[in-house]
Amino acid sequence: MTTSGVRVRIAPSPTGEPHVGTAYIALFNYLFAKKHGGEFILRIEDTDATRSTPEFETKVLDALKWCGLKWSEGPDIGGPYGPYRQSDRKDIYRPFVEKIVDAGHGFRCFCTPERLEKMREAQRAAGLPPKYDGHCLNLTAEEVSTRVAAGEPHVVRMKIPTEGSCKFHDGVYGDVEIPWDAVDMQVLLKADGMPTYHMANVVDDHLMKITHVARGEEWLASVPKHILIYLYLGLEPPQFMHLSLMRNADKSKLSKRKNPTSISYYTALGYIPEALMNFLGLFFIQIAEGEELLTMDELTEKFDPENLSKAGAIFDIQKLDWLNGRWIREKLSEEEFQHRVLTWAMENSRLKEGLKLSQSRISKLGELPDLTGFLFKSELNLDPSAFAKIKSTPEELLEILNTVQPDLEKILEWNVETIEAELRAIADRMGKKLKVVVAPLFVAVSGSSRSLPLFDSMAILGRSVVRQRLKLAAQTVATLVGPKN
Ligand code: GLU
Repeated sequence: MTTSGVRVRIAPSPTGEPHVGTAYIALFNYLFAKKHGGEFILRIEDTDATRSTPEFETKVLDALKWCGLKWSEGPDIGGPYGPYRQSDRKDIYRPFVEKIVDAGHGFRCFCTPERLEKMREAQRAAGLPPKYDGHCLNLTAEEVSTRVAAGEPHVVRMKIPTEGSCKFHDGVYGDVEIPWDAVDMQVLLKADGMPTYHMANVVDDHLMKITHVARGEEWLASVPKHILIYLYLGLEPPQFMHLSLMRNADKSKLSKRKNPTSISYYTALGYIPEALMNFLGLFFIQIAEGEELLTMDELTEKFDPENLSKAGAIFDIQKLDWLNGRWIREKLSEEEFQHRVLTWAMENSRLKEGLKLSQSRISKLGELPDLTGFLFKSELNLDPSAFAKIKSTPEELLEILNTVQPDLEKILEWNVETIEAELRAIADRMGKKLKVVVAPLFVAVSGSSRSLPLFDSMAILGRSVVRQRLKLAAQTVATLVGPKN
């Protein structure tokens, strides 16, 4: 049981590969709970049914477990305020929405997607930010009930004050003021009866007795809507803390185009979870040079939410590499090190799968390292000459690599069949033979033109490693293209 009453949560939406940003926010909440003797809770926010999948949910849970972040309530273990997955809570939200409508704080909106699109287009053309124009705000009660009775599809929106501003205190930003004019009449309940993120998030934080909401700064602009929902429901809002986002070295928002952002990339390359947590934890605390190597307990001890680090959270991979090396050399016992290596080699069954694919291709076991080494390497150190044996011109190779990269992102479930199907479709679209398209991919992914079958290799390596290898291959090939004269 919690002694302090502090209850915090991480609330990921399972819509993609688990992101290091999720681990970063989760770690903050975890340290906050530990520091206060409180509870750290995991809630799955899957109100976006078109983008959420059970596979991604499993991946998020596995990734956070790999990080060593343990929750005391969650969809996998239950708890007193469950269920902890929003799609299993659908019926819980409706009475809250009705309460808002009945009190006159919300209204039913029958606008069609076509009308809304036209409205937004006109706003864009006039240089205005897109915002609901209040078309259904003043429908009469009779008209609303007739249209509802006739089964006309509609959503529920919240009313927003027409003047003044929302003032609130944020644990990181301090006093914040956002004019109501900048706040949209947010949809609370969608036409299919599912709540939106905003509605479900507020209701769940209330029902799950969350005391502090710590999340990424991209949610700061949503706080006025959330505060208003609490007010409309007669509830006390939690305390908010909006953490600065992690950034690339050039200060832009951390993006997979510039840095690998999937936790699975770091797992695959053999980063030690303690080192990754150590690296992320340094963004929150103030320490002197030389004190960087810290365990989770030491991070907790130094963690002080009243005195957070003012330095920006720059995702500096070299620093992570340095910390990871120190963890390997200074913190792991010989036994622990061996255990970690073996677990890592078996991860995603890559050793087993690699051996399966190799058996028919070798005459001596000693050939295995050359044949399968690429499945384990953190860097292939590609040389431009590796592409020289391919018949296509460097320009064509570059075109293939640049076309394949974004198209592979469209694959929902990453496996041998889906990868093959997508690459065949890409070849068709490009009007090229499959073997022409896969030739540079072979080199990009394995570093050589003689290796294990491509689709299997890509499946074993995983999407995030393949993404990074294709990116580096495109950079390597670009050096062959040279300036036009
Ligand atoms: N589901 C939101 C996300 O994935 C959570 C935001 C919040 O913590 O309120 O970012």
